[in-house]
Amino acid sequence: MSVRVRIAPSPTGDPHVGTAYIALFNLIFARHFGGTFVLRIEDTDQTRSRPEYEKNIIEALKWCKIEWDEGPDIGGPYGPYRQSDRTEIYQKWAYELLKTGHAYKCFATAQELSEMREAAVAQGHRSGYDRRYRDLSPAEVRQREASGQPFVIRLKVPLTGDCVYDDAIRGRVVFPWADIDDQVLLKSDGFPTYHLANVVDDHLMKITHVIRGDEWMSSTPKHILLYESFGWKHPVFMHMPLLLGKDGKKLSKRKNPTSIFYFRDSGYLPEALVNFLTLMGYSMPADLELYTLEQIIAEFDPKRIGISGAFFDIQKLNWVNQKKIIETIPDRDLWRRIVDWNFNEAFMQKLMPLIHKRIKTFGDFMEQCSFFFVNELPLSPDLLCPKNSPPELICALFQGMIWSLDEQEDWSGIGFEKASHEVAEIFGVHHKKVVMHALFAAIMGKLQGPSLYDSVSLLGKDRTRVRLMNAIEALGGISNKKTDILKKGWQKRDCKIVFQSS
Ligand code: GLU
Repeated sequence: MSVRVRIAPSPTGDPHVGTAYIALFNLIFARHFGGTFVLRIEDTDQTRSRPEYEKNIIEALKWCKIEWDEGPDIGGPYGPYRQSDRTEIYQKWAYELLKTGHAYKCFATAQELSEMREAAVAQGHRSGYDRRYRDLSPAEVRQREASGQPFVIRLKVPLTGDCVYDDAIRGRVVFPWADIDDQVLLKSDGFPTYHLANVVDDHLMKITHVIRGDEWMSSTPKHILLYESFGWKHPVFMHMPLLLGKDGKKLSKRKNPTSIFYFRDSGYLPEALVNFLTLMGYSMPADLELYTLEQIIAEFDPKRIGISGAFFDIQKLNWVNQKKIIETIPDRDLWRRIVDWNFNEAFMQKLMPLIHKRIKTFGDFMEQCSFFFVNELPLSPDLLCPKNSPPELICALFQGMIWSLDEQEDWSGIGFEKASHEVAEIFGVHHKKVVMHALFAAIMGKLQGPSLYDSVSLLGKDRTRVRLMNAIEALGGISNKKTDILKKGWQKRDCKIVFQSS
């Protein structure tokens, strides 16, 4: 039987380095064993999924030179490869489980569910659903349905015993069933949940090995139960160690640059990012640290995959990148590569209107806009904080900008302008003297320059976000406790209590 693996990203945000990391190990596994690598888009979360995120995932993986054999963009024998195009398939299989008695209709209302959750919390139980509709008589089910009561379809999870399986990386895994709720498989609107769609698709797409991040380990017993309920053989599970941030927690965009586009736009080489990402989860023989994708494909041995999480250390990435620049780009090609990166005609044509009226000589060009071409700005509290504004306040303003831009989902100049006014209002500070001063400093590393809003549009979302995060860092950061307090104020649209108006 030939190997078939897949990545199944959800298009709910910017293309994450974690997606590239897992994709790489699937790609390497497929290529090493002469198998097939599939891209499947898991857009079952209707409220958070967006077509542009799917487009970005594809663009970002392609930039990394990660190529799949079947996928929504190229088709294949087991398509469609986008879950929103497969709804009827999931419905059919959910009803199959109803027929065989492995699932049931649950009529719990939102009100009931919230009461159950409260009761479970009060009793110190983890699971929230008390299984009250699990054993309804067929007559009662019919009667509720006839009266038009909405329902979901839930999986009957065993009440006792353990789920035991062998993970090809982690070894034997044991999970008590008592810790697992009766999972919803099909929602009342007829759309599937992740668990149902994931298992049905892995089976129908003939996936032999599920290689995914270990954050999904708690889902695996539910998946194994689903396979058993359908009477299907489950694939081999391989849970990869997670990428970790400096705080030892799962790499998150709140604290680290995580968008693949950030690395592209900051001038990293895709082959360096690929080398670095594989290094995070794998050790080559003789501790080789610099290698190509072809080399790791040839050498690959699943036993060399790590078990503990790997720190996403930008210094290490910088080192790999520098080595790749030195070793793979000859002097005569270097300038061409830099031009292709960000000194290209298309970028310059966008940049010129911003500086046209600001230069007395061409010699002023670099001074005006060098901030577009650097990764680290010379930030200091003196520069970032307007007179009489405490660093804690300015930190909080930057955090407020990130929240506002994320809420609006608009990181263009227009969104940035709106966010800056919102932040001024919520914190009760002067828009121009305080907010704009701090933002100029954070984005440009200076207090004067081209239009801030146009600059942000050109700089792009990912680099803008990281600049705001770097500015927070340069002012000493915000503790988790303070962030919670701020967030509460932010949600009430009033942070004046936290910081006296300046
Ligand atoms: N849709 C899940 C994700 O976003 C897929 C997890 C899996 O590989 O099963 O990563």
